[in-house]
Amino acid sequence: MVTKKTPLIIGNWKMNPQTETAATNLAKAVVKETKKFTDAKVVVTPPSLYIPAVSKALAKSTVSLAAQHIHPGPIGAFTGEISPIMCAPYGVSYVIAGHSERRAKGETDEMVKDQVAAILKNKLTPVLCVGERQRDPQANFYTLIETQITSALAGIPKNRYKDIVIAYEPVWAIGTGLNATPADVQEMKLFIIKVLTKLAGRSCASAVTILYGGSVKGETAAALYHEGDVDGFLVGGASLVAEEFTKIIKSTLSK
Ligand code: PEP
Repeated sequence: MVTKKTPLIIGNWKMNPQTETAATNLAKAVVKETKKFTDAKVVVTPPSLYIPAVSKALAKSTVSLAAQHIHPGPIGAFTGEISPIMCAPYGVSYVIAGHSERRAKGETDEMVKDQVAAILKNKLTPVLCVGERQRDPQANFYTLIETQITSALAGIPKNRYKDIVIAYEPVWAIGTGLNATPADVQEMKLFIIKVLTKLAGRSCASAVTILYGGSVKGETAAALYHEGDVDGFLVGGASLVAEEFTKIIKSTLSK
């Protein structure tokens, strides 16, 4: 029997909220709301400008900190970028790579691969986002998911698979109010494990944490988590309201 992993719920704040004070207050509210949930790993992902302030607000809490994006290099002439080395002093432990909103702006599989490698090299956990823009009746979208994963993990040693998080985020479900069905999510999770097994063998594949993301809300989370059989969620919009985010976390803890 495969034992269920500790649920991982990551809030991606994207370019929100509008002020550092609001970001700090949101972080504090998440800390307060989630204090009682010791059986879940909770992570927030503020805009990089707010990382220092949010890091302070999370001090002594069990809520972890993520960055939305990094440049794979350590330092240099890369306007607008931040490096994993810059994140470390603030206690950042996860970094999102390959989010569809960045892929839509031109981020390629090759760039995502370099980011994943750099994130792991700097002892941080990559949250690799994969997902199709649309589902075609011939199910060719599975090939796209396989390509995104195979390309991003090229060259990653097998012993690092346990440090990888993959978020299946169908692009058509992000910010639209549409969800994949729990059955679709479960099917995709099994497919992702099959792809990972081809790359690194069954036991390394099972060590990877697999999340679902796409318009997850308090009322949809329980079915997606339990029937979809994922290890947790990457949450956008609903993570900006501490109470709603908490409902999602709660749904992973009780059947
Ligand atoms: C996301 O952007 O990763 C996401 C899942 O957003 P939302 O929950 O708002 O669909």
